[in-house]
Amino acid sequence: MILNQGRDHVSIPGPSVIPERVLSAMHRPAPNIYEGEMVDLVNGLFDDLNHVARSSGDAVMYIGNGHAAWEASLTNTLSRGDTVLALVTGRFTRGWTDQAEFMGITVENLDFGPDKPVDLAVLLDALKADKKQRIKAVLTVHTDTASSVCNDIAGIRGALDEAGHPALLMVDCIASLACERFEMDSWGVDVMVAACQKGLMTPPGLCFTFIGKKAWDFYKDANLKTPYWDWDRRVNGPAFHQKFCGTPPTHHLYGLREALDMIIAEGLESVWRRHKILAHAVWAAVDAWGEKGAIQCQVADPAERSLAVTTIKTADGEAAAIRQWCADEAGVTLGVGLDLNTAIGGQSSSLFRIGHMGHLNPPMLMGTLGAADSAMKALGVEHASGALDAASQVLARMVAVPAD
Ligand SMILES: *Cc1c(COP(=O)(O)O)cnc(C)c1O
Repeated sequence: MILNQGRDHVSIPGPSVIPERVLSAMHRPAPNIYEGEMVDLVNGLFDDLNHVARSSGDAVMYIGNGHAAWEASLTNTLSRGDTVLALVTGRFTRGWTDQAEFMGITVENLDFGPDKPVDLAVLLDALKADKKQRIKAVLTVHTDTASSVCNDIAGIRGALDEAGHPALLMVDCIASLACERFEMDSWGVDVMVAACQKGLMTPPGLCFTFIGKKAWDFYKDANLKTPYWDWDRRVNGPAFHQKFCGTPPTHHLYGLREALDMIIAEGLESVWRRHKILAHAVWAAVDAWGEKGAIQCQVADPAERSLAVTTIKTADGEAAAIRQWCADEAGVTLGVGLDLNTAIGGQSSSLFRIGHMGHLNPPMLMGTLGAADSAMKALGVEHASGALDAASQVLARMVAVPAD
C-alpha cells in the first residue's frame, strides 16, 4: 500500500463523486422550514428537476433512495392482483418487480439476457398477445446499472402504441438521469423514477417520481396507496410540509440546488455530450486491453451501451482481483460486478464496473483507467498495452467534433 495516499476516488455507478460546491452548499445552519427561502427553494427545485427530465408534468420528491421511488411508483398506480410486464436487461428491473410481487402484484418477465437491450419485436408480440389487456404497466430501466445496457425508451413507447396497448410505461432513470438524453414528454413516458446520488451528484437521500397525465388516471383506481407515498397530498396539499409528508430534507435540498445550478450552467445538452465522450474513452481503453486476453465490454454493441456506467468482463476471478488492487494500492473504488446469471443475485468475480456519471473530468477518469491498467500489470492479468493512449485519443478527437 505504498502508493495509496492522496485523495480517494469512487468510480462506482452511484453514489457518484460529490462536488465540493455541493458539499459546501450543505454546510450551513438549520434553516426556517415554515416560510421564506426554503419554500422558494423547493418550488425552484421542482422546476429544474422537470427541466432535467424534459417533463412538463408533476413531480414528487421523497426522502429515500432509489428503492423508495420504486415503491412509490407502484403504490400510486397499481392495485393488488394487477399484472405488470417486466422488461429484464440485467438486474435492476428485477429489483423493482421484487417489490411489486411483495405487494401482491403479478409479474410477467420478458428476459432479454445479460448483455442485450429490449428487443422491440419481441415486446410488440407480447403486447399483441395480451388480448384482454391484463398488463397494467410495463416496467423497464433506461440504464441497467448491472449489465450497463441502455434501453431504447422511445422505441418501447412505439411498441405500446403500435400494439394499441393501454398499459402505463414506467421507466427507471436512476442511473441515467442527467447523464444521457431522456425525454419524459416526447418519448411518452408515464412514470419515471430517479434518485439524487448518481447523475445529480448529491449524497444519497432524495428520490423522485415524475408523473405523466395518464399516470394520474391510474392513480384514481390504485388500491395500494399509502399516506407516506401518496402523490395527491404531496402535489396538491395546501401546506408546505405536505410536500415531504413532514420535515423537509433541508440540507439535501441545498445540495441538490447547487448540483442543479451546476447542470444548468453547463447546459443539459453539454452534460450529455460530456458523458458520451467520457464513455467512449472508457470503451476505447477496454477495447485496447482486450486485444490480448479476455477483457471486454459486457455489451458488445456500442449503440446498446449506457453512457453512465460500463460493465467489464474478465477471466474468472480477475475482476475481483483488479478491484482489490485498485482499492488497496490506488485509493480507487471500482464497482463490483453483479451476477447477471441468477435471479437472486450475488456478486460476480469476473465482472467489474466503472461508473462514469456526474461530476467527472478527464483526469478523474484517466486516473481510474490508469489504476486499472496498473492493476492488470501488477497482477499478471493478460491484456494489451495502450489503453490509456486509446482513451486519450478518443478524448482529443471527440471534443473537436461538433455535437451530433
Ligand atoms: C442505483 C440504482 C437503483 C437503486 O437505487 P438505490 O438508491 O440503491 O435504492 C435502482 N435502479 C437503477 C437503474 C440504479 O442504477
